[in-house]
Amino acid sequence: MPRANFSRIDLDLVYLPFVAVSLEVIARCEARGVRYVATYGFRTLDEQSELRRLFLAGKGGKASAAGLSAHNYGLAFDFVCDAGSKPGVQPDWRLPAYRVLGEETAKAGLVWGGRFGDAPHVQWPGYVSALQLTPLRTLTERSSVAAVWAQLDNERGSPTWRAANPRLAADLARLGF
Ligand SMILES: [Zn+2]
Repeated sequence: MPRANFSRIDLDLVYLPFVAVSLEVIARCEARGVRYVATYGFRTLDEQSELRRLFLAGKGGKASAAGLSAHNYGLAFDFVCDAGSKPGVQPDWRLPAYRVLGEETAKAGLVWGGRFGDAPHVQWPGYVSALQLTPLRTLTERSSVAAVWAQLDNERGSPTWRAANPRLAADLARLGF
């Protein structure tokens, strides 16, 4: 049951079309015998700043500056591979453990962080680089994350977006978005 794989996350804070496709991706991974559990979804700007501070102090993993992570707009998940059959999660952080996640993410038309050295990370396409994320930060500062989601709703309705994201567009249509 893929929803159980997301029980640590508040899914209400994540962009719903992204949630719907991600549930399918994780279910397909599970069908291939690999279980991934979501450890991060939405992250506030304050939480992002703290992660950035720890990273710069050499005390934490790589983290973007506040507003320059897709997590800040509910457009990304981080997963851990559960290696164990025992109750609870037995984290497997070895790179090959994320190969199936990468394959299924790409097939669904989402972006896999393994492309830029962040194998547990999966996100919505088009908002990866600082250049792409900066307009979302501006919009959030002026309005809210809800305004960002409204903009994405508009964007994915356009023929240009659908042509650039055929697999994702088809999956979203099938899922009723
Ligand atoms: Zn991430």
